[in-house]
Amino acid sequence: PRTRQDLGADEQTMCEGEQSNLTVGVRVRPLNFKELNDQRITAIVEANGQNITVECESSRHTFMYDHCFVSYADSCTPQHATQEVVFKNMVLPLVENAFEGYNACLFAYGQTGSGKSYSMMGTETCGSELGSEAGIIPRFCHEIFCRSMRNSKVVTTVEISYFEIYNEKIHDLLGVNTSGGKRAPLKVREHPVFGPYVVDLSQHGVNSYEDLQGWLKVGNSQRATAATGMNEKSSRSHSIFSVILTQTQVDVPSGNQPAEPSRRSKINLVDLAGSERLSQTCASGDRLREGVSINKSLLTLGKVIASLAESTNNRKRGFVPYRESVLTWLLRESLGGNSRTAMLGTVSPASVHLEETLATLRYACQARAIVNRVRVNED
Ligand code: ADP
Ligand code: MG
Repeated sequence: PRTRQDLGADEQTMCEGEQSNLTVGVRVRPLNFKELNDQRITAIVEANGQNITVECESSRHTFMYDHCFVSYADSCTPQHATQEVVFKNMVLPLVENAFEGYNACLFAYGQTGSGKSYSMMGTETCGSELGSEAGIIPRFCHEIFCRSMRNSKVVTTVEISYFEIYNEKIHDLLGVNTSGGKRAPLKVREHPVFGPYVVDLSQHGVNSYEDLQGWLKVGNSQRATAATGMNEKSSRSHSIFSVILTQTQVDVPSGNQPAEPSRRSKINLVDLAGSERLSQTCASGDRLREGVSINKSLLTLGKVIASLAESTNNRKRGFVPYRESVLTWLLRESLGGNSRTAMLGTVSPASVHLEETLATLRYACQARAIVNRVRVNED
């Protein structure tokens, strides 16, 4: 009989740990001023807690998710999905998981201008209070700091890193530039135990929410942005904000040795580049080159999701092309591996964007079939 050592890494992941389905939510942003003035009617005809119905010409399509969030321009509507509502439903369970010692990941997927960055980062604020427009990343960190202050028996350390993948190259968004010049892109390497990682990526210990805001300001100002035909200042890169949470017991019965091993979990919060097709962005020259490699990472993400979804249906893991792009290589554990993972699909309600909206909704449906295998990390 085959022993565990005979199995490939992917197969080992398939048969170890607890099953954990990807949680998928879809968020519909409000119509913007231009769309309201154009009187372009909305393509989303119905949305409730889990279902979303889209109408195109004579047909209707209904999709089902774990959560549907709708934001109306008129924010007095009771259903209005605020940043807080999205956080409570999609992210709070991941915070719980992280404190239990599981890895976690959330990624935002959708066309440019659909609300990925608004959802992930939101609007910057200062001070120790969380602003109402703060997105998933600041809220996640704020929650970690609040929880760790409440528990005096455990010392919690928080380390962050923030990088972007732009044209398949990795740039540290928090690196200290000592040379004053342009820094060379970073490389990915494979650790025999911990898997793929970014070589020489800077990591920063963070003690408070104010501290974190300082780092976010640095990182966000470094994100590559460029004007495209779709959106004046759209982000053409994938950004990955990672947190390493380590918890160590201080209640030591004898000597200085901790009574229990420390718990360590890694959390990836990912803001993907726009999913729209190249044809819509008036791509040429430099923009075209960016578009091509953005598509390479997103295309591979699509292939990975499709093959994982197929594995679930066939109950057998086939070949998953993780290494075909930097993004999927680095997110390997988050997709089909040891991580509690959630995806937030963001869409526009305007009927002009119907085709892209349908593409995102279908993509998100497929992602629901993915099953990860999770276990608690212990040192
Ligand atoms: P993306 O990152 O997907 O390109 P953005 O997050 O930048 O899109 O959103 C585009 C615009 O729409 C921004 O001005 C943003 O503030 C606004 N927006 C997006 N989602 C929402 C929402 N749920 N509520 C209010 N405004 C939103
Ligand atoms: Mg963006």
